[in-house]
Amino acid sequence: MSNYAEGFIDFVNASPTPYHVVDTVKKQLQQAGFEELSERNNWDGRIERGSKYYVTRNGSSIIAFTIGGSYRPGNGVSIVGGHTDSPVLRIKPISDQRKEGYIQVGVETYGGGIWHTWFDRDLSVAGRVFVNENGKYVSKLVKIYKPILRIPTLAIHLTKERYTKFEFNKETQFKPIAGQYQEQSKDAAGCCGGEQLSEDEYQSLKSVVQRHSKELLDLIAADLSVDVAQIEDFELILYDTQRSTIGGLNDEFIFSPRLDNQVTCYCATQGLINSVQSLGSQEGIQMISLFDHEEIGSLSAQGADSSFLPNILERLTRLTRLTNDGNEYGLNNISSSYFLETMAKSFILSSDMAHGVHPNYTENYESLNKPQLNKGPVIKVNANQRYVTNSPGIVLLKKVADLAKVPLQLFVVRNDSPCGSTIGPMVSAKLGVRTLDLGNPQLSMHSIRETCGSHDVEKLVLLFESFFEHFYDLEQRIDVN
Ligand SMILES: [Zn+2]
Repeated sequence: MSNYAEGFIDFVNASPTPYHVVDTVKKQLQQAGFEELSERNNWDGRIERGSKYYVTRNGSSIIAFTIGGSYRPGNGVSIVGGHTDSPVLRIKPISDQRKEGYIQVGVETYGGGIWHTWFDRDLSVAGRVFVNENGKYVSKLVKIYKPILRIPTLAIHLTKERYTKFEFNKETQFKPIAGQYQEQSKDAAGCCGGEQLSEDEYQSLKSVVQRHSKELLDLIAADLSVDVAQIEDFELILYDTQRSTIGGLNDEFIFSPRLDNQVTCYCATQGLINSVQSLGSQEGIQMISLFDHEEIGSLSAQGADSSFLPNILERLTRLTRLTNDGNEYGLNNISSSYFLETMAKSFILSSDMAHGVHPNYTENYESLNKPQLNKGPVIKVNANQRYVTNSPGIVLLKKVADLAKVPLQLFVVRNDSPCGSTIGPMVSAKLGVRTLDLGNPQLSMHSIRETCGSHDVEKLVLLFESFFEHFYDLEQRIDVN
């Protein structure tokens, strides 16, 4: 088993939410010597050739880049794009519900999950909590390890249909149970009412204690080693406590949550870090761009349809060599921008998971374009531009893959089938940058528990590494006007 498959399993187990994905990527980048930048600061004089940086937005999207030792303003950027989010259930702003002796937690569906797979799983919560530390509001990551929630199915004996088909109401029948309560426990906790507050107890919004179950808040506070009273607000996401694992007779599978799209997040980060070994001689900028909110259309301040990537690229294309301070290697802000030249010379690999062929449903796949697990990354083609792959892109990726000895596969959907999409079309349209859609093959996309090939993880890492190392040279040999 390659170290990369094991490395991915550790990555996904550490990352139940987009906030954790960004935190895990950050830690790997920091270990490799990447330096953090903030969008709140001016980057004047901060960026150097041969150096490595990252910047985050909202704690749930991250862009990391390396500046080639021989980089010149106007040179291209090789970008691997992906997303940090997966379909999940999120705790509602007022979530405490009690019925028939059960403590229940109101949840909201996020994205297009295969929701029936969330029934009868041992669920817990993780996310981001804002804590009041002496008047400063600090964001902290929380991850409760023990299973505390469950969405129970109804016993087969109690339903007329006997589950010949499984349908349920996502509002009323999809509500997790979290425990049991004694009738008076809510009052005893002193958390009901609130109408009789005095002047100095005024609250514009009911406190978290009044909106969520006290027992849940106690757990979160204990995990963060703070008092419940310090919790200002949070974004909490449910996750399956069953850990990602290698599976199959010959260890050929990974059984895991969130393969879509943490495989990309992990492989892009590893590929960029590996490519640092040739950074001294690189002439371009190498970049990974991992966005939140792909599963709901990418339109947010930190999604792929936001200003995040254009803003970072604009900052970088205003950098040029200093001529007046004798610092040959420094880069500094200049008034003119090389943005347009750089965009025309850049390329984005939009990486998102692909559909591997399913042996029990082969009729749902196009007869000749059926990727198999462990046979390499899949180039996704769609004439209607749900994927933006075109022939110059395929030529480039073939050369990149040949150099790394990585096999590639092709995918197209049937004409009578719907098609997914990715960040590819919107990012390429926004920037005018050539783009290709690809991704590793998997089964059960958007299930709470998905399956991919364990050997494909290393292949995608090597493909990205080769892209970062060879793009500058290859790009100049592919002639498209
Ligand atoms: Zn995806």
